[in-house]
Amino acid sequence: MAETFDASLRRTHTCGQLRAADVGAAVRLCGWVRSYRNHGGVLFIDLRDRDGVTQVIFDPAGDKALHDRAAELRNEWVVAVGGTVQPRGEGRVNPEMPTGEIEVLAGELTLLNRSDPVPVEPDAKEEVAEETRLQYRYLDLRGAAMTRNLRLRHQICRAMRSVLDQRGFTEIETPFLTKSTPEGARDFLVPARNQPGCFYALPQSPQLFKQILMVAGQDRYYQLVRCFRDEDPRADRQVEFTQLDVEMSFVTEADVLELTNAVMAEVCRVAGRPFPQEVPVLTYAEAMEAYGSDRPDLRFEMPLRDVSRVVAGCEFKIFSQAVGAGGAVKALCAPGGGKLSRKQIDALAATATEFGAKGLCWCKVEPAALAGGTAKFLDESTQAGLRQACSAGEGDLLLMVADKPAVAARALGEIRVRLGAELKLYADDQFAWCWVTDFPLVEWDEAEQRWDSSHHPFTSPRGEDLDKLDTDPGSVLSRSYDIVCNGAELGGGSIRIHSPQLQRRIFKLLGISDEAAAERFGFFLEALRYGTPPHGGIALGLDRIVMMMAGGESIRDAIAFPKTLRGACPLTGAPAGADQRQLDELGIRIAQPPTGEDSNAGGD
Ligand code: ASP
Repeated sequence: MAETFDASLRRTHTCGQLRAADVGAAVRLCGWVRSYRNHGGVLFIDLRDRDGVTQVIFDPAGDKALHDRAAELRNEWVVAVGGTVQPRGEGRVNPEMPTGEIEVLAGELTLLNRSDPVPVEPDAKEEVAEETRLQYRYLDLRGAAMTRNLRLRHQICRAMRSVLDQRGFTEIETPFLTKSTPEGARDFLVPARNQPGCFYALPQSPQLFKQILMVAGQDRYYQLVRCFRDEDPRADRQVEFTQLDVEMSFVTEADVLELTNAVMAEVCRVAGRPFPQEVPVLTYAEAMEAYGSDRPDLRFEMPLRDVSRVVAGCEFKIFSQAVGAGGAVKALCAPGGGKLSRKQIDALAATATEFGAKGLCWCKVEPAALAGGTAKFLDESTQAGLRQACSAGEGDLLLMVADKPAVAARALGEIRVRLGAELKLYADDQFAWCWVTDFPLVEWDEAEQRWDSSHHPFTSPRGEDLDKLDTDPGSVLSRSYDIVCNGAELGGGSIRIHSPQLQRRIFKLLGISDEAAAERFGFFLEALRYGTPPHGGIALGLDRIVMMMAGGESIRDAIAFPKTLRGACPLTGAPAGADQRQLDELGIRIAQPPTGEDSNAGGD
């Protein structure tokens, strides 16, 4: 085995590079043995590197010592192979492989390293538990699928940087060891050794720093930045994640939307995905009304219809009483949904109740009349009215919820998304983008009995709503926007408050006293006093964007070293206990020593 790697072993090509045009060339490749086969004495080695796989053959009719050494090679051993490119023999061309027309006839072999038998074959994704893949992440990343994702992530970051650079943005780093930034999650705290009893908080986002950079006259800021949010386990969330964070001065909503569209168009271009000329913009109210969601999946139409007027006077009490009590009856017409089984419809009803509705009414649309479910309670004219209001045709399924308007919309919105997938109302590679704007500024937090920000407390209310701030805060809309793709929120932001007085008013509305505001954000309120320009920005979730562009399903496939749902890293065993000496230095006493299981926990 070669203990040192010298210049004589340098590769001439990567394992993904050689083509028919290279036949006859003397080459040297370096890489890992992906597989080996012995066909009647001829040894076939598939040699892999980041770029691809090349077939190498060792002919027993040639150098015997060389052939004997090659026969010892095992999977994932690291070698340098010199040889000549030759066409593959009759019937052995592999059109699936970019290098499939050629092979390298080996003339020399240097073993650079051995590998123990691997617990995870690179690229053996399906058969291996994800926790094992994460534990041996270096083997997992060695495979083509993850290598592709990491390259794509790099290209996407580059695309983002290039658009922002062209438009005069400066990339500026902001601190990780800082004070709390309110984004609605728990903070990760880091004890400060030099100030016992004090803690840094890891930033949930650079929100306050990017606004301070606008006060500082930096005008156009961006950063591909890690954010830390100690959230409870949720599928496709990571406790640390990366976002493209942007802030601009002297802009309106339209400027931020236009810039983001330009960034995403370039991202889609490098990822080979379509991006529309015009991205539809819906207000929050429109999105909730038509799709029952603030992140509507527009890969398919199937809008919600308000049929309250149609059913207000009908005999069916569930409908007429709901409307009479100020509620609404909303309906969804699922094209071709008539073929759904009773079991499938029951599952939809369970979704409705899970999202707060009292129940789900349904009927199948048949040539003569509505049938099944609720149909028998509906008179002829109500049936006809419903068919017309929902543009229902034969073979469709009508689904209705009678409840408070928001509850009915939400429940049917969830059902709509389920049905889109179940009835295959879109193609696998379809993309549908939209903007959702004008979110309510605040939401009522029932548990805490106070108003809470829908985005964060630095979001500007609309100018025309300012006089409702004290009288009817729930009706105040904000200058906020989210970008949505295929029913997933990929980013969001807002025009910010730039007046210290208005900022204080909003804190008050949120139940944050002057003292609490001074203690938590005093430095920021102080900064606002010194000539803050009007400004606004956005943050885009990089991990989710990469996942979508890669056509993947798990956000973890877009991240080199992700954490499990419980925030653990199976590779390193983090989080783990600390030495007593470290704890003493920090002045920390542990009330409950970590159990080995939890401190090293991996699984989801
Ligand atoms: N700071 C916000 C977030 O991280 C984004 C923004 O308002 O720009 O979600």
